[in-house]
Amino acid sequence: MQKTEDALHLLAASARRTMSVREVVEIIELVTKNPQTIKAILEAATKQRIIRRVETTVTILDGAAAFPKPKITRVDCDSSCRRCGVRIKHCHYIEFDDHRLGPYGSECVNKIL
Ligand SMILES: [Zn+2]
Repeated sequence: MQKTEDALHLLAASARRTMSVREVVEIIELVTKNPQTIKAILEAATKQRIIRRVETTVTILDGAAAFPKPKITRVDCDSSCRRCGVRIKHCHYIEFDDHRLGPYGSECVNKIL
């Protein structure tokens, strides 16, 4: 599923190696807000050894290194953030090979940088 792929990619690309479950969910929320989908993505990430979860701490595993870092582009705009809904004048897009996610405000896109 595209959403799962995208979310795994973002988790793998995160600059942080350890984070809380809450922070991991915040990254997944860039892709989907659906609690069921978020749960499925967490399970997929664990199964594919991208993350290891011990209680409330999540470690990004070395298997994540296989994922290239997605490119972020920034353009002036007048829109609202796809994750949190705030009005934004600078739109950030997360670029994949054949599609992109966004727009996001800087606060939300910073969650993966
Ligand atoms: Zn936002």
